[in-house]
Amino acid sequence: MASEKSQTARASGTLGEISLFGVPVRFHFTFLFLMAFLLAAGLGSREANMASDALFVLALFLCVLLHELGHAVTARRYGIKTIEIVMYPIGGVARLEKEAAPKAELVIAFAGPLVNIILGVAVVVGASYAGLDQKANELLTRIAAANFYLAGFNLVPAFPMDGGRILRSAIAMVKGEQVATQIASRIGRGLAVMMAIYGIIAGQIFLLLIALLVFLAATQEGAVSEGRALTAGMPVRAAMVTAFHTLPHGSTLREAAQLLIATTQQDFPVVHGDQVVGLLDRTAFVRGMAGEGPEAYVSAVMDRDYVRLDPDRDLAESLPAMAEAGPCALVMDGEHLLGLLTRENIAEFLMIRKLGLNPGASASTTATGV
Ligand SMILES: [Zn+2]
Repeated sequence: MASEKSQTARASGTLGEISLFGVPVRFHFTFLFLMAFLLAAGLGSREANMASDALFVLALFLCVLLHELGHAVTARRYGIKTIEIVMYPIGGVARLEKEAAPKAELVIAFAGPLVNIILGVAVVVGASYAGLDQKANELLTRIAAANFYLAGFNLVPAFPMDGGRILRSAIAMVKGEQVATQIASRIGRGLAVMMAIYGIIAGQIFLLLIALLVFLAATQEGAVSEGRALTAGMPVRAAMVTAFHTLPHGSTLREAAQLLIATTQQDFPVVHGDQVVGLLDRTAFVRGMAGEGPEAYVSAVMDRDYVRLDPDRDLAESLPAMAEAGPCALVMDGEHLLGLLTRENIAEFLMIRKLGLNPGASASTTATGV
């Protein structure tokens, strides 16, 4: 699989990192269970079958890693970096820094399964010339079959699996990316439901798990794509909160609490005269109340490292920054505070856009301070 996320943060729950072809490869902590299984099942065992099973799992893991590297190295040829490859016991994910253009995405998505096809053919050809004993031949046949299975499975057109990405990029070349993502997301969810039903009937829990992941990912990609379409070309200022309260830097948390109750606002810019010196969001407020008490000054607990957004920046481009900012970002024209951008009002903005209105058209930029 390959996935595109605009966040640069590394996946959570990973341990250990190696670098292959300049791509960071991390292992999810659940990998320890797989390693424990390998150690217990194979390496210490005298029974040939168990040792062969362990070798098989190890080889399979290596083939999955090479599959992900296939995506990463191909993406680099199109100038797209891979933030990381995360290896889970059930497979790998290559996280690319940004989305590729349709043609590039098609090639990048196909590169992974292609690696497995090449590996499978290479193992079959190699085994037929090597003249190994029966046990070794059996193992190699299993590894070759697993590679063909990996290629075939990943080519199932269930977005966001590789096959789904190939399908989406092909549709995108004809109908545009927005429509393509919606179609691919729908097909992905449909296939996921069928996969889940088959998994239940056949008693394959593994397939059920994959189906669930595909369904969730397809739904999320569909929503992200819709959000992008509804916000593209709109400036940040069109979606920001323009009527808001601020807190002077000399206020106490008790005063902040009164404002929190008296208004519907949850995040307050902290100002010193005209100048913004920080942001007191609800988390900082709660943390401050618990740690310092109500008489502490807001300036002692506020966040000085808040996220600033340019009012004229494209809203679609700002959404990834918002995802990192947490609940609230400040919209600033130089040092001048124009408004707040919060998750709630982005959700409202999307709802209004969906209803066909253009809220940006008459947005005023007057700020009301307290
Ligand atoms: Zn893949």
